[in-house]
Amino acid sequence: MNCIFCKIAKGEINARVVYENDKAMAFYDINPQAPIHILIIPKKHYENLFEEIDKEDAMAILDCVKSVVKSLNIQHYRLVSNAGKGAGQEVFHLHLHLLTGREFPAKTV
Ligand code: AMP
Ligand code: ZN
Repeated sequence: MNCIFCKIAKGEINARVVYENDKAMAFYDINPQAPIHILIIPKKHYENLFEEIDKEDAMAILDCVKSVVKSLNIQHYRLVSNAGKGAGQEVFHLHLHLLTGREFPAKTV
């Protein structure tokens, strides 16, 4: 499968990794939409949250968010996951966008 995030998870493509364990990984987005824009992925390939996610992987990405927040001493953040083309998803490997370092005046929800 030609998936860029699978390649990052396997270390075949470089990324600025913030945190990693055996099930999940966090790395900086190459096209940041905020001063700090980090992507959190499960190492196992899922397209998006429409898929049935193994409980361990679901917990792993949430734990990964907490580890990033703690290690970077983040005080507030916004977490987004685009699921499907209609929502703007471009990379079809499940990921959470963690955005912080600026105000978020335009609330979408
Ligand atoms: P989405 O539109 O929700 O699928 O988000 C995909 C995100 O992946 C975008 O914000 C891209 O900037 C980011 N991205 C694509 N390729 C890479 C890469 N090689 N390393 C880091 N981020 C990437
Ligand atoms: Zn993948």
